[in-house]
Amino acid sequence: MHIKEHKEFRERMRLLLASFAQELPDRITEIEALWNKLQKEWDSKVLQELHRSVHNLVGNGKTFGYPQLSIEARALEQALKSLMHREAAIDTLQSARISQQVLELKRISAEQAAASSKNTIAGGGDEHALLQNPHASNLIFVVEDDAEAAQELALQLRYYGYEVEVFNHLDKFRAAVEHKPHAIILMDVEFPEDEMGGIQIMEEIQQDLICPARVIFISVHDEMAFRLGAVRAGSVAYFTKPINSTELIDQLDLITASQIQEPFRVLIVDDSPMVLAYHTAILEQAEMTVKAISEPMQLLEVLSDFNPDLILMDLYMPECNGIELAKVVRQTDGFLSTPIVYLSTENDFNTQPEAMNLRGDDFLVKPIDPAHLVSAITSRVTRARALRSLVIHDGLTGLLNHTAIKEELAREVVRSSRLSTPLSLAMVDIDFFKKVNDTYGHAAGDRVLKSLARLLKQRLRETDIVGRYGGEEFAVIMNDTDATSAAKVIDEIRTVFSRLLHLSHDEEFYVNFSCGIADLAHFSDAASLSEAADKALYQAKQRGRNKVVVNSGD
Ligand code: GH3
Ligand code: MG
Ligand code: MG
Repeated sequence: MHIKEHKEFRERMRLLLASFAQELPDRITEIEALWNKLQKEWDSKVLQELHRSVHNLVGNGKTFGYPQLSIEARALEQALKSLMHREAAIDTLQSARISQQVLELKRISAEQAAASSKNTIAGGGDEHALLQNPHASNLIFVVEDDAEAAQELALQLRYYGYEVEVFNHLDKFRAAVEHKPHAIILMDVEFPEDEMGGIQIMEEIQQDLICPARVIFISVHDEMAFRLGAVRAGSVAYFTKPINSTELIDQLDLITASQIQEPFRVLIVDDSPMVLAYHTAILEQAEMTVKAISEPMQLLEVLSDFNPDLILMDLYMPECNGIELAKVVRQTDGFLSTPIVYLSTENDFNTQPEAMNLRGDDFLVKPIDPAHLVSAITSRVTRARALRSLVIHDGLTGLLNHTAIKEELAREVVRSSRLSTPLSLAMVDIDFFKKVNDTYGHAAGDRVLKSLARLLKQRLRETDIVGRYGGEEFAVIMNDTDATSAAKVIDEIRTVFSRLLHLSHDEEFYVNFSCGIADLAHFSDAASLSEAADKALYQAKQRGRNKVVVNSGD
């Protein structure tokens, strides 16, 4: 757990709470004033405003630890709601009753404000549940008594962008784990002094750690006793020697994949700034990126710029309700399947007929417990991302597929032209790949494709976009990069790739690729850029392969 963030979160919550308490008297005064105005002169706009103020108090009161206030506000809200459908002024009896309720609200707020130091926020104490994100790690400890084997493994891992520290003795390793418990451990099972030494020491180390270390065991033994021992020492995988490095890299990718995931983008629409601030604080604490808008009319503007994974929508807002807003979102290009979760008080849920027609799992009731809010959003975003991911990614390599990379290219070309920034397209094609398949088998060929995909993603910048264009052909879109710089970058990757060791059964082999590059300075639209890069690729093949060629249009 990260202590500093925890403190920050508590501090933020404390400030929110304090500011709610501070603003409460003004809110009550406003309610009182609106009610007085309404009694003097009947005006349905004023009634609506009054209703909204009271409604906000229902939810906020509960959220910020004033349950009694919330109950009282709800009673008043119901009374006001029954007035909303009539045109004429109300009778004196009703009027007197509401005046009484307003006074009661005032009394309770004063009483509870006095005791506010004892208040806790909804779900208080549950912040711990939000703080379990492990920290991103690209660090690997290789623990192996055979120094030569360890160095060979480290070299391969470094090619794929991992940071590696090698330990040939257990004592030094032990000290290192204490300092860097987030490292992923590749542990040899047998050591000279003990056939199961690696397993034993891991078992001891795990007992001292709050969050178990992620360990992968490597062994010449494939017997049950060893595998069981490994599991008991907290292993996440078990590899037998000789290690297939592509499979090992796959496993490491899998372990680290969840850490390098882009933060969830959540758009919150709620007319209460207080509720916005509260939900924003909770979600940001869970490392999500949040955009909060209190003006529903801003929605369209924000939507395409922010591109949210999920929209958290208040159901009841002054200008338009959440359901109408959701329809607008659905009718906007590209947001047909963005998950929308409604937030409402129980009251809305029971009284609004449209709300009852909505599926229950898209509903959260205010006030919501912080841990529940985070888990509800996490599960929906994870599902939505998984679905979208299936549609746009290639199953074997995990890169963007042909359709998706072409769409990206069209988009990026338009964007770069507009901003007058450079853009390069690189087409990469593996050399003599047919021979790889024929000699080492299709499965080995697949592993080569995966290793190149992995290398491209690892070595390129996050702003570069990589796709699998065809069978053994890859496309890379490089923003803010002219063809000369692009060629330099890809040529380095070409060198590294040609040194990667591939394995099929017990046979080792090397593979290389050719690449053609063109940029937007010489070719001004997506189609001619693709064609120019293809031509350069053809030339690279003609000139003997394992080369990068730039098409400068002459
Ligand atoms: P060149 O150097 O001229 O590019 O020769 P090449 O053999 O790489 O090119 P060619 O286009 O003749 O052959 C490409 C081969 O890639 C043929 C196809 O079977 C293989 N291939 C395409 N997709 C996959 C795949 O998903 N997995 C595997 N293992 N092979 C694939
Ligand atoms: Mg090829
Ligand atoms: Mg090809």
